[in-house]
Order: sequence, then structure tokens, then C-alpha cells
Amino acid sequence: MLQTLVHYTLHLLAPGLIAYIFFRKEWKKAWLIMLATMLVDLDHLLATPIFDPGRCSINFHPLHTYWAIAGYVVLLFFRKTRIIAVGLLFHMFTDYIDCQWN
Ligand SMILES: [Zn+2]
Repeated sequence: MLQTLVHYTLHLLAPGLIAYIFFRKEWKKAWLIMLATMLVDLDHLLATPIFDPGRCSINFHPLHTYWAIAGYVVLLFFRKTRIIAVGLLFHMFTDYIDCQWN
């Protein structure tokens, strides 16, 4: 229960905070973009079972591998994709924290 709460707080509210600190001028847009990065969780649909609370996403799902993360880091270097990259990396960080509970 606590784990789920922490997970969704981090997934939803923390991006808002990050957006507000780093992209103050357009923080609402930045927040929305970061929320949209949750779509990478669509790769969970490729897995069986689709949802398994005890499973670590990192390096299990295609968009959650170190290779994918390396790609997100590259996106950091371009102004246009920077917000997306921050969102994606933060998402991976959140999922990674999740792995530490088990
Ligand atoms: Zn994820």
C-alpha cells in the first residue's frame, strides 16, 4: 500500500515539481509532457503477466532497459526533447526505486 502510494506520488506529483523548478516559464506544459512519458509503460503490455507488482521493470521491459535509458540521456542534449528526456529518466528512476522495495 505504501509502495503504491509512493510510486504514484512520484509518477504524478514529482514531475510537476521538477517542471516548476526547471521549466518555470512553461511548467504546466512541461508537466503534461512529463506525464505523457508514462506511455513508456505501454511496453508492459508485451509482458506476461502485464501487471506484476513484485517485478522490477528496469531491464525487463524493452523501454526500460539500460539501452533505452542511454537513448533518453542522448535526448537530454537537444533543447526540443530535453523535457521528454527528463520525464523519461525520472520515470526510470521511480521504477528503479520500486525495485528496491522487494
Ligand atoms: Zn515504468
